[in-house]
Order: sequence, then structure tokens, then C-alpha cells
Amino acid sequence: MRANQTLKRYYDFWNKKYFDNLLPHDVKIGYDAKRYASRKRKKEFGEADARKNEIAINPRWRDTKAIVLWALIHEMAHLEEYRRHGRMSDHDEPFEEIMNELGAKGAFSKHNGLRRYSIW
Ligand SMILES: [Zn+2]
Repeated sequence: MRANQTLKRYYDFWNKKYFDNLLPHDVKIGYDAKRYASRKRKKEFGEADARKNEIAINPRWRDTKAIVLWALIHEMAHLEEYRRHGRMSDHDEPFEEIMNELGAKGAFSKHNGLRRYSIW
């Protein structure tokens, strides 16, 4: 997977804005065509791997910015869960708590700092 600088810029921006800049700064983020090529995985959005320090986004959604950004911040929430708890759940309570915090901070609103792109 090749690192994507645009995705990394969103990551860095949100890391400062919503995660107190506490998420790792050297994460590799990119679109991974190979990973999502199979029938089983082709509809997935993305995946975070805290040990590999990597976020992969499914390129299928590349032209739909709202989905890509939503997937990215979702995966960032997984990394935050890992930072806090040393593990990532299957979207259980600790994950949900982080998503709720992000919501309360306005991450999913029109005023999420991206100007032209609200996530919803
Ligand atoms: Zn997830």
C-alpha cells in the first residue's frame, strides 16, 4: 500500500483538532486496492492496524469524499481506543464512547473544520 499524503493531511488535522494530537504521527495511510479486492471484503470501508501503525481505506469509495473522510475518522477512533485501552474492540462500548465524544466535539457536523466537506 502506498502512503497517501492527502489522507495524511486530514489525519494530522483531525489528530490536532479532535485527539489532542495524541495519535501517532508516523501512521501510514493509504488506499489499499489489494486488501479489498475479494468479494468478501469489497464493500468494506477501511481498517486500522495499531501494531503496524497503518490505516487502509478501500479505494472503491475514493470518489465519494464524505465516505472516505467518515472511514478515516472512524479508523482514527479505533487507534484512539487502542491508545487508551491497549486493544481495539469490535465497535463495543469503549469505541462507542470515543465516537460519542467526537460527535460532541462536532466532528460529524457541518463545522468540522473542513469547510467544504461535512461528513454527513
Ligand atoms: Zn470499525
